[in-house]
Amino acid sequence: MRMDLHVHSTASDGVWSPTEVVRKAHANGVEVMALTDHDTVAGLAEARKEAERLGMRFIDGVELSVSWGNRTIHVVSLGPKKFEPYRELSESLSRQRDQRARTIAAKFDAMGIYNTYEQALALAGNKLNLSRRHFALALLERGTVGSEDEAFEKYLKDDGPAYVKTEWMTLPEAMRFIRDTEGVAVMAHPGRYSFPAPLTTIDLLEEFKALGGDAIEVTTGSHFEAENERYTRVALNMGFLASTGSDYHGFKPGRPEPGMQEPLPDYLPTVLDLLKDR
Ligand code: AMP
Ligand code: MN
Ligand code: MN
Ligand code: MN
Repeated sequence: MRMDLHVHSTASDGVWSPTEVVRKAHANGVEVMALTDHDTVAGLAEARKEAERLGMRFIDGVELSVSWGNRTIHVVSLGPKKFEPYRELSESLSRQRDQRARTIAAKFDAMGIYNTYEQALALAGNKLNLSRRHFALALLERGTVGSEDEAFEKYLKDDGPAYVKTEWMTLPEAMRFIRDTEGVAVMAHPGRYSFPAPLTTIDLLEEFKALGGDAIEVTTGSHFEAENERYTRVALNMGFLASTGSDYHGFKPGRPEPGMQEPLPDYLPTVLDLLKDR
């Protein structure tokens, strides 16, 4: 069964509306989909409506921004039953994101790259959820960089010249938040993190497990193939259920369209085991 439990829309830093991403997933044969915009539930009602119209199973999701090991990591909450706490969170983060965006733009100004705040804002579908990705798209649009990845590599990555440190939730706070809202906790794209020595992703996963983490993304559009294999073994060894998602944000060379990430090996127990009533 084809599933995609990690997709973005214009409610955060994706290019397509919730309706449009659901249609894309459906066209690719996806039978179970979760929309997982960053720190917001704003797109869920629209996506669910379209998924139900198309006869697809839909699971609510949110990708929470978390600070750990002096880096930003992402934890996905799948199938929460309470939504008000997410609305309150987005409201406070939207102010924080706007402030951060202005500070990022000031750093670009100092490098002689002007008006990036205005351009990033114009590119954002949800002006209340401004992302570093909107700055990457702005730099790409004006030709300062040749790709999104280059924008992050050169400027926007954690500790890069245009990076502004953000205090997101801590991991214990995020896990309590997910538990209180009755969500299932999934570590997003574990292969993508790198921490200052001596911290490793395994340390992160051990703490996540100890705090009640349920699953990790094993195959994702944000992993290279070798990482999919590595995290298959990690899920088995550490006793995590497996999740999978394209992490689709819009067309990006070399990245999968909705539902087209590598499928999970069929012997791995999946996070759907915990989502039967959702
Ligand atoms: P923010 O939540 O504003 O910190 O923005 C983070 C977003 O930027 C992520 O959700 C990705 O969509 C994108 N992103 C982060 N790091 C990279 C990277 N190294 N290359 C490309 N995109 C990235
Ligand atoms: Mn993103
Ligand atoms: Mn992510
Ligand atoms: Mn994502």
